Amino acid sequence: MRIFIAAELPQELIETLSETSALLRGAVSGRYVAPDRFHVTFAFLGETDAARVWELSSLLEDACAGSPPIDAHLGALGNFGRRKSATLWQEIRSDGRLEALAEKLRHRLSTSGFPFDGKGFLAHVTLMRSADLSSGVLPMPHVAGGTIDTVALFKSDLSGEHPVYTPLSEVVLEGGGG
Ligand code: ATP
Ligand code: MG
Repeated sequence: MRIFIAAELPQELIETLSETSALLRGAVSGRYVAPDRFHVTFAFLGETDAARVWELSSLLEDACAGSPPIDAHLGALGNFGRRKSATLWQEIRSDGRLEALAEKLRHRLSTSGFPFDGKGFLAHVTLMRSADLSSGVLPMPHVAGGTIDTVALFKSDLSGEHPVYTPLSEVVLEGGGG
């Protein structure tokens, strides 16, 4: 099955990202990500043996142990890929906490023999795919803050019209201290 590990987002961030997405609809053509699918990908594993899902869940649990919830806020818009077919996203900042958790998680994946896409981690929430950015100026995004407290192991099913992400296990961040 196709697997990735991502942070889920609190309602206040989802609502603000939806407002930015609505602004983009007026400016950019492409495929919009539905708000109930917004997330921050920590590691994309891709095709993974179903028999190792239990092991992955416990790895995720260990990697998150002792990490308190993460205060985050939305930043600038950015994009990957080609100008006429870009992935358009909004940055999410957390004083390095999201980066530290991604690093810890990726380190554990490596030492446990789980391959993942090795591109550097960049904390972002994808708002559009196949976006045509050639036709003008992007709007100023809405910004807001919120607390991230859930990280999940997701199965991604791309066989339908829209991707379907199903959480296979979820970890609540609840450690004390920083
Ligand atoms: P679609 O591929 O149909 O556009 P999607 O990208 O949302 O849908 P997946 O390809 O399963 O669905 O990706 C799940 C998550 O993992 C998304 O956040 C995606 O950006 C990220 N991702 C996918 N492929 C990679 C990759 N090669 N490297 C890093 N992250 C990836
Ligand atoms: Mg994809």
